[in-house]
Amino acid sequence: MTHTDPATTPANPLAGVSPDVLTVTNLIRTGRAVTRQTIAEATGMGRNTVSALINDAVDAGLLAPDGSAPSTGGRAPATWRFRAEAGLALSIGVHTTTLRLSVADLSGTTIVSEVVDWPITRGPEATLAEAATRLAALLARAEQARPGHGPVRVAGISLTGPVDRHSGRPIAPPIMPGWDGFDVVGTAQALLDMPVVVDNDVNVMLVGFLAGATERQEQVEDLLYVQVGTGIGAGLLASGRVHHGADGAAGDIGHVRVTTGDQVICRCGRTGCLEAVAGGWAVLRDARRAATEGVTPFLRSRLEQTGELSIEDVIAGVAAGDTECLTLTVRSATAVGNALAMLVSLLNPARVVLAGHMPQACPIFLEVAQRIVEERALGLATRNLRISVTSEGLEDERRGAAVLAVSALFDGERR
Ligand SMILES: [Zn+2]
Repeated sequence: MTHTDPATTPANPLAGVSPDVLTVTNLIRTGRAVTRQTIAEATGMGRNTVSALINDAVDAGLLAPDGSAPSTGGRAPATWRFRAEAGLALSIGVHTTTLRLSVADLSGTTIVSEVVDWPITRGPEATLAEAATRLAALLARAEQARPGHGPVRVAGISLTGPVDRHSGRPIAPPIMPGWDGFDVVGTAQALLDMPVVVDNDVNVMLVGFLAGATERQEQVEDLLYVQVGTGIGAGLLASGRVHHGADGAAGDIGHVRVTTGDQVICRCGRTGCLEAVAGGWAVLRDARRAATEGVTPFLRSRLEQTGELSIEDVIAGVAAGDTECLTLTVRSATAVGNALAMLVSLLNPARVVLAGHMPQACPIFLEVAQRIVEERALGLATRNLRISVTSEGLEDERRGAAVLAVSALFDGERR
């Protein structure tokens, strides 16, 4: 999100660098072109112009020589690399009960990080102030641990709710009381004194996943990144671009209606939502009921031991062969599978990546979701489709927030 309120906009750390230098730097940063020739082809600029721009970027501390590319005959062409050490990127993950903070280099590689118990219900002012205080300390630690970073400073924020792509403000987030319409970007920029971008958590995770894929030199063009956590959401990559939709709500599938019955009330206030059947909070709601009703001795004894159930208890129940835990997991996977079948038909991704505790810890979750997608989506959409589970969701989010912020500096986009 690049929207900023002029009154609270800190100086852009790259304001003195010409847009053409930023364009060339960004091609190298994203790996889309790394030689004079390929940059000239990508931009339509002459090779001499490209050489001059590269020199300017080297002088600005953004690029460094990186040896040579494989030759296609004759002398191997020189290549450059983006200087990830040109600055530091801060990442703020605002979760339901925790704040996840880190400082990374400009490639998104973590230098120091911290997870703080912090309920989102304390509201945006207190939460962002807490994040800023702790990040100031983390920045100092990062500079001590790895001295010599350049002066660029940016921050990315990941929010567990819908974010208006035009204003950067959360809009009616069901589980974030006090955050509706709040100027997260302006407030964080004033506190941190650096440019800030914000997006919905699963979009941020998708960006982090893509950064990893680029590093592994994997080509990813059409992908669905689905987070099955407390809530459920999807990040959409279409033709190599993160698809936000007209207002930023694309992929927010947690509140599509999946049952016609009115008996399942969602935390958004409506009934029959995907999340109210398959989300972590819904699974726990039913796990608690089953435990207190004595349906599952396994969960009952867990509940008696600790006074509260967590999704880890349900996962442990599945591993221990508890029928009710298995039923709850399969029910969640079935609802997610049906939603995925619809999304796969709509978007025809080459890959679906599932993140979150249950898909990660219970192999049956993937099996059920996969089977439903194969049964329900068109053969043309599924014949090359690969559905997999990642255990790196939190890491993707952390890295994605940093990369998002860095990307906004160079091209005003999110990747
Ligand atoms: Zn809902």
